[in-house]
Amino acid sequence: MSNTVKIHPSIDAGILPALPGFEGGVLRCKCASEKVEVTISAQTAHNHACGCSKCWKPEGALFSQVAVVSRDKLKVTAHEEKLKIVDPGAAIQRHACTGCGVHMFGRIENKAHPFYGLDFVHTELSGVRGWSPPEFAAFVSSIIETGTDPAQMPAIRARLKELGLEPYDCLSPPLMDAISTHVAKSRK
Ligand SMILES: [Zn+2]
Ligand SMILES: [Zn+2]
Repeated sequence: MSNTVKIHPSIDAGILPALPGFEGGVLRCKCASEKVEVTISAQTAHNHACGCSKCWKPEGALFSQVAVVSRDKLKVTAHEEKLKIVDPGAAIQRHACTGCGVHMFGRIENKAHPFYGLDFVHTELSGVRGWSPPEFAAFVSSIIETGTDPAQMPAIRARLKELGLEPYDCLSPPLMDAISTHVAKSRK
């Protein structure tokens, strides 16, 4: 039963470990030609499955897979003219390809945001192995908002646990702690 639940194509077959010394790669959009390319020159961190309605998900996936990297380690290296911000009012500005719809990176421009300085990326777009693996599943309950039957949630949470991805309905405790620490500091 549980293995019929499709979480994400890069996760369903089992999670691959990071390669020691891995230093990034090139993300490419899904256009047949004139692909947007984003070059990342570092290993990513905090990779996770995300159930929110805003992250880009591959066809048929219940979750996105999304990691962060320092914004100075990310560069658009081809066809930047095809990128457009999905929602300029959102905290995370997701730069999507206008040709294929894939989100190439998400950036926070508000310097007061707890995650300012980090870009959000979908490392499966590189086609190479060695990136930091997903560590948990965030915003799990949110998949109901985009059409998942609430009755399927126990099976989906069971499958996430089986894969080693602890399901959370917000972010993981360390990231929630980081946000609250930021808020506490900004109040002093
Ligand atoms: Zn494209
Ligand atoms: Zn998300």
